[in-house]
Amino acid sequence: MKSRSASRRLQLPISIDEFAGRLLDWYTQHKRDLPWRRQPEPYRILLSEFMLQQTQVKTVLPYYERFLRAYPTLEDLARSEESEVLSAWSGLGYYNRARNLHRTARLICEKHDGTLPRDYDQLLELPGVGRYTAGALLSIAYGEPLPILDGNIQRLLARYLKIRKDLTGSGAEPVWDLLAWMVREPLVDEHISDFNQALMEMGALVCTSKNPLCNECPLGDSCLARKEGIQEELPVRTKSRKLQSFQFASAVVPRNGRYLLMQNCESKFLRGFWEFPKVVLPIGPDLPSSQLLEQTFEETHGLKIEIAEQFSPVDHRITFRKLRFYPFRAHLREDPEDSRGFVWVDLEAKRDYPVPSFVGKIVKRIGRADDTRRQN
Ligand code: SF4
Repeated sequence: MKSRSASRRLQLPISIDEFAGRLLDWYTQHKRDLPWRRQPEPYRILLSEFMLQQTQVKTVLPYYERFLRAYPTLEDLARSEESEVLSAWSGLGYYNRARNLHRTARLICEKHDGTLPRDYDQLLELPGVGRYTAGALLSIAYGEPLPILDGNIQRLLARYLKIRKDLTGSGAEPVWDLLAWMVREPLVDEHISDFNQALMEMGALVCTSKNPLCNECPLGDSCLARKEGIQEELPVRTKSRKLQSFQFASAVVPRNGRYLLMQNCESKFLRGFWEFPKVVLPIGPDLPSSQLLEQTFEETHGLKIEIAEQFSPVDHRITFRKLRFYPFRAHLREDPEDSRGFVWVDLEAKRDYPVPSFVGKIVKRIGRADDTRRQN
């Protein structure tokens, strides 16, 4: 049964063969030389697709190479501990992707003999694999004619077809239907891996969010938004999620080139990571007194500290969360109990503990303050 009749389906302004032909020619000439394109093996495609979720190619590249050096095969990844995987992912953010990738690697090894399944429904059972990722894996790794729709393709088609509706959530269904029809057409079916990548590449390089390069676009003469000069008004944007603010006091306790860190076991974000012991502060510019802070650290973490020096705040953003850290250099009045899960870590050396990037920001802030003081 067809999900949508041809008359109700979104229509291309040119034939599918012309549309696909122009796109594929452009892709052959302009595609970026990317490591997962050079060696399109299923594990490498899987890794690239997880890393590219919500992150741009140029950001992913160094992490992709580093991660592959640490885990050259799916089996290597499946055998590792989650904390090691988080360390290898450290700095790329959105750490649930790393957790899901790790669990996915284990499940593929346990249930599918270490081979990425070719079955769409089996792929959807893997953690972190949704409709887009399953389509991308099957079409790019195995050449299966399946549609994909990411933010780049959504923007490109919203403009090309002049779609004025919000395409988030169920609003994207008409575009999925159009793509599902396209991939069944012979020219697209035959070149599905390149076709899907060409759509994404066009969105990333030509039909960009700001200042799209319409004069260089192979679809420019048939683009409906361009004809009316409204390409930058599309796609229709929904209100972004409201920002949430958090403030913390972070105790930076150095000893012999190492720092005292503790594991974040409670917070919903960055759970499992190691960071400076911290306590939550009320939002606002007024900080509690040193005495009150010392008391709060002791009550919260059983940590007996003496605050020596306060530094200017360090801001950090994690998706819709704005974090502000007020770092303090502190001394221990008593060594903490081992059972509390504290460790002394050399942040310069190879890390055995996953550490979020704001820890490095805090260390830099303190280092700069120390340099300034030495110069004066
Ligand atoms: S002509 Fe411009 S707006 Fe239209 S698809 Fe091409 S780059 Fe996008």
